[in-house]
Amino acid sequence: MPDLVVMKFGGTSVGSSERIGEVAKRVAKHKKATGEDVVVVVSAMAGETNRLIELGRKVGGEKYALREYHQLVSSGEQVSSALTAIALEREGFKAKSLLGSQVPVMTEMRAQHAIISDIPCGNIRSLLDKGITPVVAGFQGIDADGSYVTLGRGGSDTTGVALAAALGAKECHILTDVDGVYSAAPNICKQARLLKVVSYEEMLELASAGAKVLQTRSVHLARKFKVPVIVASSFSEGRGTLVIEEYEGMEDNVVSGITCLPDQAKITLRNLPDKAGIAADIFSHIGESGAVVDMIVQNQGSAGNASISFTLPEAESDSTYADLVSYVNEKFPGVNIEIDKNIAKLSVVGEGMRVHSGIAARMFDVLGREGINIDLITTSEIKISVAIKQKYSELAVRTLHEHFVEAA
Ligand code: ADP
Ligand code: ASP
Ligand code: MG
Repeated sequence: MPDLVVMKFGGTSVGSSERIGEVAKRVAKHKKATGEDVVVVVSAMAGETNRLIELGRKVGGEKYALREYHQLVSSGEQVSSALTAIALEREGFKAKSLLGSQVPVMTEMRAQHAIISDIPCGNIRSLLDKGITPVVAGFQGIDADGSYVTLGRGGSDTTGVALAAALGAKECHILTDVDGVYSAAPNICKQARLLKVVSYEEMLELASAGAKVLQTRSVHLARKFKVPVIVASSFSEGRGTLVIEEYEGMEDNVVSGITCLPDQAKITLRNLPDKAGIAADIFSHIGESGAVVDMIVQNQGSAGNASISFTLPEAESDSTYADLVSYVNEKFPGVNIEIDKNIAKLSVVGEGMRVHSGIAARMFDVLGREGINIDLITTSEIKISVAIKQKYSELAVRTLHEHFVEAA
């Protein structure tokens, strides 16, 4: 059996009929040059998913049936997968588009989005055995009732990696509109450097902290199933970035990347009784509403009181705030609640932090010298994150990049 690779093309890469023609040429070239089988995964054409979401909002308002949201927004990938199969046939290859239901990509719902639970590979294998290239509609799967569901924004990356894992593929290529993973968002920081290699752990931290080049869930799956991922441009021929378990000199770079997650909000509860079980009570209540809380900090106040601050996506903050106000007023009268909707999360990430100390102090010092105030701080073994005012986010990324990457 020939080796197999999964090639996933993002929205800009399939953004026009010309681009779809280029994608077909790229797949054809890879097949001819390597003799490898290719399973293609595509996103919707650039802007299409946003257009569908907006259409749903115009017809249904802010809240309508979640099932119909998924049925609606999954449709963009049906168009691009069929067009890509047509383009491949035109290149002289047998190809067949497959929807999430035809693969099938089996899923389970988690809050608003689905996660992949299983991908039986029989259909794809039998196409490959017949010399037919499968072109899978990314982002979509089906639930137990056979309804279409989607995997969250950027979810075609996850379709690609999950298929690579299920098929035991040699690699998953994520082909996008930049040359690979950079040390900072290249559209914000002109000095950002292309990273030749990053570890799963670093990529996980970078993705969850705002480097949208890979959906976080796709990196979880790549790490779990040890799928080597190559992030590269579909517009040029560079080698891109390899995402793997470990690499030589992994701990030499103190900081590999700097990211910023905009559009966050901070909610602060003051004068909470400083008693065991209060935080559990508040956060279980928030959890029931489906809101995804990120950074959490608790401070001891005076007179047996405490305050708790947490961040969450700005889009979910109004409803969470309103709900908390009524819950807390009833259960803990006297508690004050404040909301700040202009927050960004800024992070520095690097395997080198495992062995180098003093990084937090340097980060805070650099920000302090720019007059950027720090609201909340959280850390992991290889990441330091701070919440700052959103208006400082680009300045903060560039200044930290200068200090930790350019001057290193
Ligand atoms: P696709 O449509 O191919 O899935 P995305 O828009 O989801 O592409 O992701 C690619 C974009 O991610 C790039 O255009 C870039 O602006 C952005 N990005 C943010 N941070 C980074 C980073 N650290 N490295 C590379 N790209 C990044
Ligand atoms: N089309 C979907 C989105 O825009 C999925 C993807 O692009 O990966 O989020
Ligand atoms: Mg994407």
